[in-house]
Amino acid sequence: MDFISIDQLDKNEAKKEIDMLIPKLNAWSQEYYENDNPSVEDATYDKYYDQLLKIENKFPELIIDNSPSQKVGGKVNNDFNKVVHDIPMLSLGDVFSVEELKLFLDRLKKSQPLSEQYNCELKIDGLAISLIYKNGKLIQGSTRGNGQIGEDITNNLKTIKSIPKTLNKAIDIEVRGECYMPKSSFLALNEQRQAEGQAPFANPRNAAAGSLRQLDPSVTKKRNLSTFMYNVSNYNDIEADTQSGLLKELTELGFNVNQEFKVADKQTDIDQYINQYQDKRNDLPYEIDGIVIKENQLNLQSLIGNTIKVPKWAIAYKFPPEEVYTLIKDIEWTVGRTGVVTPTAVMNPVQLAGSTVSRASLHNFDYIKKKDIRINDTVKLYKAGDIIPEIESFDPSKRPNDSKKYIIPSECPSCGSDLVHLQDEVALRCINPKCPAQLYEQINHFASRNAMNIDGLGPKIINQLFEKKLVNDVASLYTLKFEDLIELEKFGEKSANNLLGSINDSKNNSLERLIFGLGIRNVGTKAARLIAEHFNNIENIINTNSQEIEEIDSIGHTIAESVFTYFNKETSKELINELRSNDVNLKYLSENNDNIVDNYFNQKTVVITGKLIDMKRSEISDWLIKHGANVTSTVSKKTDLLIVGKDAGSKLAKAKELSVTIWNENQFINEMNKY
Ligand code: NAD
Repeated sequence: MDFISIDQLDKNEAKKEIDMLIPKLNAWSQEYYENDNPSVEDATYDKYYDQLLKIENKFPELIIDNSPSQKVGGKVNNDFNKVVHDIPMLSLGDVFSVEELKLFLDRLKKSQPLSEQYNCELKIDGLAISLIYKNGKLIQGSTRGNGQIGEDITNNLKTIKSIPKTLNKAIDIEVRGECYMPKSSFLALNEQRQAEGQAPFANPRNAAAGSLRQLDPSVTKKRNLSTFMYNVSNYNDIEADTQSGLLKELTELGFNVNQEFKVADKQTDIDQYINQYQDKRNDLPYEIDGIVIKENQLNLQSLIGNTIKVPKWAIAYKFPPEEVYTLIKDIEWTVGRTGVVTPTAVMNPVQLAGSTVSRASLHNFDYIKKKDIRINDTVKLYKAGDIIPEIESFDPSKRPNDSKKYIIPSECPSCGSDLVHLQDEVALRCINPKCPAQLYEQINHFASRNAMNIDGLGPKIINQLFEKKLVNDVASLYTLKFEDLIELEKFGEKSANNLLGSINDSKNNSLERLIFGLGIRNVGTKAARLIAEHFNNIENIINTNSQEIEEIDSIGHTIAESVFTYFNKETSKELINELRSNDVNLKYLSENNDNIVDNYFNQKTVVITGKLIDMKRSEISDWLIKHGANVTSTVSKKTDLLIVGKDAGSKLAKAKELSVTIWNENQFINEMNKY
């Protein structure tokens, strides 16, 4: 979008423009900060925000409180306890060119003539966190939130390896920095989410935010987050007198500090640093979206001061998004295990942000229609979060004269059945339960690590089994014989026996693995476990109704309907019967639960009482159940452990009387963090 030039705007027009910009920016911020699910690229947001700042600069009387320029983006989710930041956590002003950077440095020099040195740091694309230490011990961790009030995520942050729980010095200090998701963890997480039928995260920043703001710390732990710390809230707490010295001091205290920082004396050095990392950013194992340039003298930082939203002594130079053009040669449609048919653009290979790209998802047919994408179009490609290739738009000047609108297929590319477009979704679907492509994907999913975990049964072998007509659904895997497998390419006696062994072992899996493996729409590993735990065996699930499923904590209407519909179908019941006749276990076996390793809580009867500070009672209870404990509400002789919060009453007295082990919340959290 091209904006109206600011010079031509009179006050009335400026007001109209502001009235258009503010609701749009605020809505995008909500998607970005609250839902961790942005619908536009950061560069688009930045363009609109920049236009708003320019107008507000020209007409300061039009600035309103609700303007994004007047507040630090982000809101506090009520599921978390609130933390008041005694010293606000600010955002950063940004520039998009070396010319704009020069203007900033000139302004800085004018306001503080002693300013002569700058510390250049990488701008890590994650989310800001604060860590508070007392006597060198981590006591609280929180998000930036709206800058004044953040969310208490202490228990989640404690699961992150790079965050020291004890410092190398017994001091009181608040340290601030960035929590981020390494690129490798991001790719692995998105792969897993897609395999589980969940929407992938748009970029590592959103994935980090989503992973950190979890009610269950064990989820955060699995997401492999990391941190780079770069600031303290109070300079009196440290010895250093420069920003670069502060980074060294934080390293010595035990923090993970990004070591790519550099002190620069003049703008040409900063420009060089920018160019160096613009070239190098794709080789870094974490995402950066720019460079932060900071006044290096800490006393000058304090003298220069802050605006309501940003420090005046620092600026972010944001990298432009990398873009290239290429030609669409074809659109391929693939059928997923739930029958969703998705389009992929097949393009002339191009180099983009460090890798060769020749395919990009076109998501669904609405997307093709909206963007009017056609074969032989020249399209602009970028990498969302600099990782996933996305098509932004096509170049109309390069569209061939004989170009025709793309006709969306009406038949399944695998089985030829009519495709349907269900009312509540954008996807096209093949609803033929015998569609070979779906069955193939279902078996792939069924055998996968988080499902039945059949070691050695990968896509290539499944493909051969299909071609030789040895399998046609997941139950038929259990009818495979040695004579069948020995016929497969590159298979000898040993590999055939190994595969038969893993198929056989999978019969003993606990029910949640089977439920997830069946590939029921919207049912990921967590929902599968909750359902298995609740119903205990498959008969109970088949005989239930969707209301009862919805009554399970954390299971919503969509999942409940999906599960009910699945088990109500005759084909599903037949499949379950086949699995049963092949001796596949259909019961929930709590001792098989992966979380229940040799942990303290396994098989213990636990009661929780009193007012809790750091965790909600339901969080503790969920965690305990997942780790094999039996959580009850009354203290008796059978009780092994009582977890007490503040103001505990009769249960505490009874536990003392019966000599039950009693822990406060911190003792519990300490023990919990071991698993
Ligand atoms: P920001 O991310 O642009 O910059 C400030 C943040 O940078 C700090 O809070 C800190 O967390 C981080 N940072 C990383 N490395 C740092 C370092 N070395 N030193 C200091 N800080 C460092 O600002 P913001 O207010 O968090 O977010 C605004 C940005 O978010 C926008 O510019 C836009 O790109 C994006 N956004 C996008 C959408 C969307 O819909 N796509 C919506 C809202 C905001």
